[in-house]
Amino acid sequence: MLTSCVPGGGVDDELREELEMLRQRIAVFDHMREGLQVVDRKLRYKYLNLAAASHGMRPREELLGHAMVEMYPGIENTEVFQHIVTCLETGAPNAMENLFEFPDGQKKWFDLRIQAVPAGVIVLSVDIDDRKRLEEEVRRAKKLEALGRLASEIAHDFGNILSAILVGVDVALFSLPEDGPEAESLRMVRDAAERGTSSLEHLLEFARGGAVDLAPLELDTSLERLVPMLRGLAEGRFLGVGLDACGAHVRADATFLDRILSNLVANAHDATEPGGRITLETRVVLGAVEIHVTDDGCGMDVDVREHVFEPFFTTKGDHGTGLGLATVYGLVKQLGGNVEIGSAPGEGTRVVITLPLVEPEG
Ligand code: ADP
Ligand code: MG
Repeated sequence: MLTSCVPGGGVDDELREELEMLRQRIAVFDHMREGLQVVDRKLRYKYLNLAAASHGMRPREELLGHAMVEMYPGIENTEVFQHIVTCLETGAPNAMENLFEFPDGQKKWFDLRIQAVPAGVIVLSVDIDDRKRLEEEVRRAKKLEALGRLASEIAHDFGNILSAILVGVDVALFSLPEDGPEAESLRMVRDAAERGTSSLEHLLEFARGGAVDLAPLELDTSLERLVPMLRGLAEGRFLGVGLDACGAHVRADATFLDRILSNLVANAHDATEPGGRITLETRVVLGAVEIHVTDDGCGMDVDVREHVFEPFFTTKGDHGTGLGLATVYGLVKQLGGNVEIGSAPGEGTRVVITLPLVEPEG
């Protein structure tokens, strides 16, 4: 109606002024950090402020006038959609924390308020993804800590038992002819007990938490030394090495790096076919050093990616312990760093470890 007015008239000026004021008022919503959207009774986007469009990860011009199901295929199966429909039907408001899954598989946490209005429903959204992820980190750390304590108690008990076995076997071997069948059997027992001890050491290493005394070391040189061992683990795959953090120091321990890289390369090996490609790279970014371990293997779907750092999570049945990435996570955290994983089915995997840069000790 406003656009059909003849320009120049007094009434028209008034209308124009009113329209301008209205525009300015609506523009205020674009300064909000909270997303505000109005969906009509046919579930079409009628209004979105800038934050709402950014929460939906699409420009608002694309969304306006279109149905939710058209813009986000599959949204009809989500909890949010069901709540919006219920709100439209019953008029009852609703509030929830929701993990929204986008059509491309990405997931993000929002705090949502849904409220009925004459035109349809208003949805107010607050991005709480960072907070949720932090809470998840704390939960994970607590779980690891509890598990660490348990593992360490068990490891100590078993360590004592294995020591007793090893001592007993040595005493018995001493009194037996060296090339007899009894000595041969006892040597097998000793080998098994020694393997057990070495597994326990891994468990203890995983269990070890808290502060560790670490000195600055030059990352690239330390990694360079690990390469022959990593090539062994990468057996049958091509291991490309591109160390590009020359001179950069991190506060770490060579055995930590050994455990971290061994686990990552072993996983990359398991995920790739013979002839596949694994890459180890380093580079300096702002105030930190990144270690990238990449492979062109099977990759992970969203469900696997969400659980990989959990102790005992494995998709390898009896062949996996599920402690590899939990150990990596624990060790990297002890170094004051961070681990991130980018992966998709059929697109390989990239693990990025970020460690703070430190000055070399003079
Ligand atoms: P494990 O190797 O014993 O299964 P991890 O903690 O090392 O335990 O890994 C947990 C799971 O994460 C694996 O079972 C696998 O499903 C997945 N995973 C880890 N690394 C990769 C990778 N590079 N590519 C694909 N999947 C991986
Ligand atoms: Mg593993």
